[in-house]
Amino acid sequence: AKEAGKNNYQFYTRGMNATAVNYLLLENDLRRAIEQDQLSMYYQPQIDLQTGSLMGVEALVRWQHPERGLIGPINFISLAEETGLIVPLGEWVLRAACQQQKTWLQAGKYVGKVAVNLSARQFRQQRFAERIADILTETELPAKYLELEITESSAMEHAGETINMLNLLNQMGLSLAIDDFGTGYSSLAYLKRFPIQKLKIDRSFISDIYTDQNDASIARSIIGLAHNMMLNVVAEGVEDTNQAEWLRRQGCDQAQGFLYAQPMPAGRLESFFKGGTFS
Ligand code: C2E
Ligand code: CA
Ligand code: CA
Ligand code: CA
Repeated sequence: AKEAGKNNYQFYTRGMNATAVNYLLLENDLRRAIEQDQLSMYYQPQIDLQTGSLMGVEALVRWQHPERGLIGPINFISLAEETGLIVPLGEWVLRAACQQQKTWLQAGKYVGKVAVNLSARQFRQQRFAERIADILTETELPAKYLELEITESSAMEHAGETINMLNLLNQMGLSLAIDDFGTGYSSLAYLKRFPIQKLKIDRSFISDIYTDQNDASIARSIIGLAHNMMLNVVAEGVEDTNQAEWLRRQGCDQAQGFLYAQPMPAGRLESFFKGGTFS
């Protein structure tokens, strides 16, 4: 079947732009994937740097493609954004994450908040807050167990609108985090008006934190900024103990990264459930 698939792609490619055709095929595939439940969620723990306990999990989407195998989100999220498929895909993700969180809670397994990534195109929808409310009702999940992540760059573009949407979501009792912090152009005047609880330091600043003075300064500044604003700060992409130790000494609250765990299917999270600490 794999060979036949390959030949198919070659056939359609003849005389046409290969990328364009590939894109078209993928768009149809992705549409089908959403309808036929070929998507699945992986979860990555967020660990308290002082105590080692589990504070939350980030939900990350995967696509189990019938011919191409497991595909990561960097290969299809931008396609979904450009085609508008991000709206149904995003709803699928929200529903799946809320359902999973409800299942954990019913089983007495507390993972902290489950954090879901949002694309700009999703939260700029007219009735986005209502859609979230519907999904929470449908899955019978109290809002306090759900966190939403939006990237710094998408939050800062149309910052005025962002504030209005974040206020609505905040009033519903959801937690809000700014993702990839440090990579966009933040206006501090806007940042202080965002009703958020968390900043996530982008992993590009973390990898060389122990050796690169500039990265270290930036990370230290973000930690200070977050704490001055009474926000929690999470370091992304923590891969070794030097990085974790440095962050802990600087007072960073939480860490997420391969040092602790790769993103994994819900069933494999068992050893991380709250109560058990991690070191
Ligand atoms: P992100 O939100 O910054 O998510 C963190 C990414 O870093 C994940 O990649 C995760 O697997 C990876 N990661 C975690 N720890 C480490 C580490 O220690 N080292 C390294 N090198 N990488 C680490 P993933 O799952 O491939 O997701 C990539 C991006 O795709 C996400 O970046 C997010 O922007 C987007 N994404 C994922 N799921 C969704 C979704 O459901 N909706 C939307 N809109 N975007 C999503
Ligand atoms: Ca994220
Ligand atoms: Ca991130
Ligand atoms: Ca990112």
